[in-house]
Amino acid sequence: MLKHMVSDNVMKKIALSFDVEEFDLPREFNSDIDDEEMYQISYYGCKKLLNLLDVPATFFVTANFAKKYPKLIKEISEKNEIGLHADEHKDNYEDMSCDEANEKLTKAKKEIEKIINKKIKGFRAPRFYPPDYKLLKKLGFEYDSSLNPCFIPGRYNNMFKKRKIHFNEGLKVIPASVYPVIRFPMTFLCFRFFNRFSLVYEKIGTVLNKEYVIMVLHPWDFMDLRKFKIPFFIKKNSGEVMYGVFKDYIKWCKNKGYGFTTMEKF
Ligand SMILES: [Zn+2]
Repeated sequence: MLKHMVSDNVMKKIALSFDVEEFDLPREFNSDIDDEEMYQISYYGCKKLLNLLDVPATFFVTANFAKKYPKLIKEISEKNEIGLHADEHKDNYEDMSCDEANEKLTKAKKEIEKIINKKIKGFRAPRFYPPDYKLLKKLGFEYDSSLNPCFIPGRYNNMFKKRKIHFNEGLKVIPASVYPVIRFPMTFLCFRFFNRFSLVYEKIGTVLNKEYVIMVLHPWDFMDLRKFKIPFFIKKNSGEVMYGVFKDYIKWCKNKGYGFTTMEKF
């Protein structure tokens, strides 16, 4: 009886997180996209996402995007957590001096806090390349979520980094969820890479993560990206397929009795 009560009380938590940014991916692959379209992709992606999202989530926003659409960000902040996703999405802290990073992050954090009228606690770096944790802590961040603890060819190999929530330089680090042991990623691409089988893939990963699941997605996942000159696996099944799989995933989590939470609550 006691065992039954205890297991009922331990509810798995799902933290959905979305990186809200100017869509500069084509530029990363040496193809052009005009400034206006770069913002609109994420703006309309947000609109689609908000249309289906009826659970709380965390949105990591660039200051650039927030200044362009302050009303939208304010609206999102009413039911969700807002974190910082850099000043500009092209910011790369590996090429930046500590002084420059300090200046840009201080400015960006203040600008978004002014829009939402709340303190920002969380940070996620563009492309998962975080600045110095000591700097983030000094700037008042409580956690960083710029770690995808798996191997992404051409990007990073984090196979041997910690998979669970931990502290580094006094800052709480909340890694994206992966499959335990084999470390298959569970981020945005996996939600659509395997067509309808993507849902099964995400369900298995969610079951295997016993206490909580941290999902990393983007509003632009919900837009049709086929016309852009970016690698096929990034544009594959964007838009409608993604929308369907993600909607079914939320429904499945609810049926399983999992709770949804924002990342600041960890
Ligand atoms: Zn990003």
